[in-house]
Amino acid sequence: MRSDRFDVVILGGGNAGIGVTGPVRRAGLSVAMIEADVLGGTCPNRGCTPKKVLVAAGHALHEIERASLHHIAVGRPRLDWAALIDREKDLIKDIPENLARSMAHRNVEVIRGHGVFAGPRTIRVGDRTLEAKHIVIATGSKPRPLSIAGAEHMITLDEMLSERELPDTVIFVGGGVISLEFGHVYARAGADVTILEALPQLLPAMDADAVAHLQAESERIGIRVRTGVSIKRIEPANGRLRVVFVHDGVEHAADADRVVNGAGRIANVDTLDLAAGNVEHANGRVAIDHHLRSVSNPNVYVCGDAVPTSPQLSPIATYEGDIVGRNIVEGPSYGPDYTSMATSVYTVPALAAVGLTESAARQKSLPIKVHSNDMIEWFSARTYAETVAWSKVIVEEGSDRILGAHFVGHAGQELVNIFGLAMRFGITASHIREYVYAYPTFSSDIRHMLGHA
Ligand SMILES: Cc1cc2nc3c(=O)[nH]c(=O)nc-3n(C[C@H](O)[C@H](O)[C@H](O)COP(=O)(O)OP(=O)(O)OC[C@H]3O[C@@H](n4cnc5c(N)ncnc54)[C@H](O)[C@@H]3O)c2cc1C
Repeated sequence: MRSDRFDVVILGGGNAGIGVTGPVRRAGLSVAMIEADVLGGTCPNRGCTPKKVLVAAGHALHEIERASLHHIAVGRPRLDWAALIDREKDLIKDIPENLARSMAHRNVEVIRGHGVFAGPRTIRVGDRTLEAKHIVIATGSKPRPLSIAGAEHMITLDEMLSERELPDTVIFVGGGVISLEFGHVYARAGADVTILEALPQLLPAMDADAVAHLQAESERIGIRVRTGVSIKRIEPANGRLRVVFVHDGVEHAADADRVVNGAGRIANVDTLDLAAGNVEHANGRVAIDHHLRSVSNPNVYVCGDAVPTSPQLSPIATYEGDIVGRNIVEGPSYGPDYTSMATSVYTVPALAAVGLTESAARQKSLPIKVHSNDMIEWFSARTYAETVAWSKVIVEEGSDRILGAHFVGHAGQELVNIFGLAMRFGITASHIREYVYAYPTFSSDIRHMLGHA
């Protein structure tokens, strides 16, 4: 058995693991990165990037639907699903190799295999034993297992991104981000889509009014949404799958070609033998302090989706990786701040958000002014024949600080970054109103979204 010594051993070569390598390599530390699958992890290989290829096709179908409003006559579109999946695979195929080159350039030794703890400072991978001054858990997340009878019949989103056949009927179990994003693409491609959510609201962490607008738009394109649902079982029926569920006290059965686990993801740490590493954990969650460091083993840090308490987003994984890298180099002195992190649900049109929802701001008893606008009759929305154009901006009275911004449609997935930037760098609502915007752009509407001072 070979034994090696490194300053830093990183478990996982996704956004978070790669984020760690910048600071530690700049400081000249020796680094090994262990990757069980392909470099890049979820986001570029089976998440954000391939998904966006499908979303872009959904966007094109949306524009075709609206073409007649611009007096353009087009025939009924026909999407070649197999060719679209091939396009998606082709666009991402070089990413792992490019990242391998980039890691080699940084002098990071990439080791293929599944790493596990063999001691507080020891990792075993295949026939190698690595001794490290610092170990980073950047092993990402995996689909949340559901304790529903017949759950084994469900497929995951990995499979959805590879299926070359467009199913006629799809049921998503769980009404989170990914179900909505994929649901929109499938519905626009012609599939019959149902989303079943256990809680009273889809996207429970998002602003309730924003979600209501997105749900209305989802229903407009034919998606069936049922909230407050309790799933009883999933069973084979006539060569398809049957989902039996209770809604409004009544038992229903719905048949589909595919049933998808859209119930979110959990930290992927259960096969790491955390006990051998003296890493305190409970229910699949590693106990960490504000510096993302294990509370029981000061040589171990956690970042990215493996952190159970932060939003599972790729820029956040990279950001946390960078923080961990800097904490390793300088000692534990940095901690994450998520308050100005923007996020989008890439439905077509998208729901975008940053900062507090209105209900969260009210729960904190903050003095707030809420600027809520249905912009569908605004000139820019009419020009582009938008189907939904809605915004809500929450401003703290007195300080004039932006506390939150929420959009559905109206290029909100781009505008939200302006508000995130304002929150991060203390740009006030008055500053945003004063700025002179290029016209006519969606961002030139921001001044009106904020009403009068
Ligand atoms: C379908 C889908 C769509 C998404 N879309 C978006 C989006 O639009 N925008 C956005 O911001 N985020 C999106 N996300 C979330 C985003 O992909 C993740 O937040 C991000 O990839 C997390 O990065 P990570 O490095 O923490 O984990 P990962 O990228 O999952 O990397 C973890 C790596 O660790 C490896 N690994 C695991 N265990 C071991 C082990 N024991 N030894 C060695 N290697 C191991 C895995 O093989 C994997 O490569 C999406 C996720 C999914 C599933």
